[in-house]
Amino acid sequence: MDFQGRTSIVTGASQGIGKAIALELSREGVEVILVDIQKEKLEEVADKIRENKGKAAVFAADVSRMDEAMEVAEAVVKSNEKIDHLVNNAGITRDNLLMRMKEEEWDSVLNVNLKGVFNFSKAVIRNMINSRYGRIVNISSIVGLMGNVGQCNYSASKAGVIGFTKSLAREVASRGITVNAVAPGYIASPMTENLPESVQQKFRDWIPVKRFGTPEEITHAVKFLLSDEAAYITGQVINVNGGMLM
Ligand code: NAP
Repeated sequence: MDFQGRTSIVTGASQGIGKAIALELSREGVEVILVDIQKEKLEEVADKIRENKGKAAVFAADVSRMDEAMEVAEAVVKSNEKIDHLVNNAGITRDNLLMRMKEEEWDSVLNVNLKGVFNFSKAVIRNMINSRYGRIVNISSIVGLMGNVGQCNYSASKAGVIGFTKSLAREVASRGITVNAVAPGYIASPMTENLPESVQQKFRDWIPVKRFGTPEEITHAVKFLLSDEAAYITGQVINVNGGMLM
């Protein structure tokens, strides 16, 4: 896989899975455009990339805001001319049983997890169509496929990401652009570390490989889908879940 000279936008890049994706792509020679809501944490990731002689640029942006997505894409096109890859990774949870779920908990999760994917995809797609090349990878979730108690908002957003992925894949397939989703199972990251130990143990017992995945294990699947070698794979959902859902 040769990624030299490529430019990737990775959202939610300051920690967890997004950070692991950004670090790995930079090691492959990609210039990584790091996007997240908090600038300080992003700068730390960018410093790490530059220490390793990689290339990175930092943008503080809220993925749920179309204007901010457009500003990032315009700035990247101005400096780099083209955007080769987009990894829509930023995501949040606001768990609650439906009976208790507040409208704000529904709206914020849908706005970040689903509208964020729409915003950034729309912001980059014209440039990808013009260069007749592009790779979009959307981070969905096992919960978007099988549901989960307390996560009506999150599962709806992640199932929505899958429908979005398949529709956009069909729209742009003839332009050299692929659009795929990766659906992680339970991954050890800041998103899951606050689950009570008893809940974590219940999941470990359930997962056939008997452990949570690592952010790096998601990175490998994402990297493959971004590669030239994956040109004939589009509209797919790659499950990386230790066998939890088959
Ligand atoms: P994480 O550690 O919480 O990282 C998510 C990142 O997204 C954080 O840096 C967060 O910033 C950022 N973010 C949140 N809202 C944003 C917004 N409006 N605009 C820009 N950035 C925003 O989560 P993770 O575990 O790495 O998850 C990454 C992706 O994988 C998410 O889409 C998640 O749903 C998905 N996923 C995770 C798991 C898992 O087990 N960890 C499983 C399945 C799917 P702040 O911290 O400042 O809010």
